[in-house]
Amino acid sequence: MNAPCSVVRPDAALSPARPSRLEAEDAVRTLIRWAGDDPSREGLLGTPDRVVRSYEEFYSGYSHDPVEILKRTFEETDGYDEMVLLRDIRLESHCEHHIVPILGKAHVAYLPDKRVVGISKLARIVEVYAKRLQIQEKLTAQIANTIQAVLQPKGVAVVIEAAHQCMTTRGVHNPGVTMVTSRMLGVFRSDPAIRREFLSLVG
Ligand SMILES: [Zn+2]
Repeated sequence: MNAPCSVVRPDAALSPARPSRLEAEDAVRTLIRWAGDDPSREGLLGTPDRVVRSYEEFYSGYSHDPVEILKRTFEETDGYDEMVLLRDIRLESHCEHHIVPILGKAHVAYLPDKRVVGISKLARIVEVYAKRLQIQEKLTAQIANTIQAVLQPKGVAVVIEAAHQCMTTRGVHNPGVTMVTSRMLGVFRSDPAIRREFLSLVG
């Protein structure tokens, strides 16, 4: 598990030896041949281009810096010091072991300490980390750690519930199984009453 304040920066995440778009398309043709089909038949001609475009969307998180997204905060809160909770954020990620979808939802809460952040930014943080190759445990920790490190609230709680297509469509074929991960920091970890309030709010 990552150290509490580690934040993946886009420049560190992107390999310096990034292949060209043509090389990426060639790699898709190789995988089509490996699957047993002919990449030059009509139905597959445009596929490498479409796959690479899909990858640009699935992995767009590598080109965004979560720290920059959270930097703009607001201090005029009229003393608001209760929990802020964003519930049921749609989560679309890809498992780094099989490169198949992880689909689910995230709940993100924090207890402000003078500063708050626009709620759309919390959803953005989830998206930027989700649009990378992930395992759910790391994704959960990265979201919580970044909010804690940049916003410096009294505490952060993140719960993710998701289905992994590497479990549902291959391997053990176990449809309906979801995985739940959580990361509690600050008062969400140390104060059982606050943790209970959060868990009852997310159901
Ligand atoms: Zn997997």
